[in-house]
Amino acid sequence: MCSGIHAVPSGPGEFPEAVYSFVICDKMNVMIDAGVANSVMDVGFLDKLDYVVITHLHIDHIGALSEIVQRYKSRVIVYEGYSKYLRDPSKINRDARAVLGEVVDIYGEVQPTDGNFLEVKGGEEIDLGEKKLKIIYTPGHAKHHISVLADGILYSGDSAGGRYNGTPIPTTPPPLDLRKYLDSLKLQISLLPKAVGVSHGGLVAPNHLKEHLDQILTRNYRVDIDIGGLAEEILAKHLSANYKGLEEELSKYPDLN
Ligand SMILES: [Zn+2]
Repeated sequence: MCSGIHAVPSGPGEFPEAVYSFVICDKMNVMIDAGVANSVMDVGFLDKLDYVVITHLHIDHIGALSEIVQRYKSRVIVYEGYSKYLRDPSKINRDARAVLGEVVDIYGEVQPTDGNFLEVKGGEEIDLGEKKLKIIYTPGHAKHHISVLADGILYSGDSAGGRYNGTPIPTTPPPLDLRKYLDSLKLQISLLPKAVGVSHGGLVAPNHLKEHLDQILTRNYRVDIDIGGLAEEILAKHLSANYKGLEEELSKYPDLN
């Protein structure tokens, strides 16, 4: 039996905190995002897992999905029209290699998921027992990105950046849709969450959202995150792609606010 909420590192052995998955235990248990294929994640504390929510279909969020679904027969919640890319992830693997190069070999390629999918578009509420899970459509990082609100905690995937060493970081490589991203970020700020689960950073205080918004609006999004070793190299690879995403978009909007 599990209870409460859990932030579980689900990155590779070289950088476990590269990604976090979150688990909410109630009458129905839910996991939000499924880490990388070569994940260190141990979900042995779960006797059952009713749902896995996929915030969006990038390899660092769906890598262990097929294994988890095989083991727990969980229902997979994903944005409408996109379950087909989980059934056949070849496009996702190809796109990831174009952006991340050899980091894909550290993360591992995504395997097909043969499962029971529940496609959503935002606004749905799912009863977990004591808690309710609310799906919120938060495009910008990807057009199929959803976030989740449960018990006042917002699980923002990659729609509100990430956070390491107390510093917010950009998490979107091109193509970033900055207008939609900022609208989604402001929407999430307006929800007044008591904490935020960011996929790249874990559970953080809600002022993260505003700090991340400010770093974009003031164009101070280049960060210095000192974590050392291969983890820092992996993070640097992501960051250089993500800076490009912001640079391209910000050049279109000189008067952004
Ligand atoms: Zn990500």
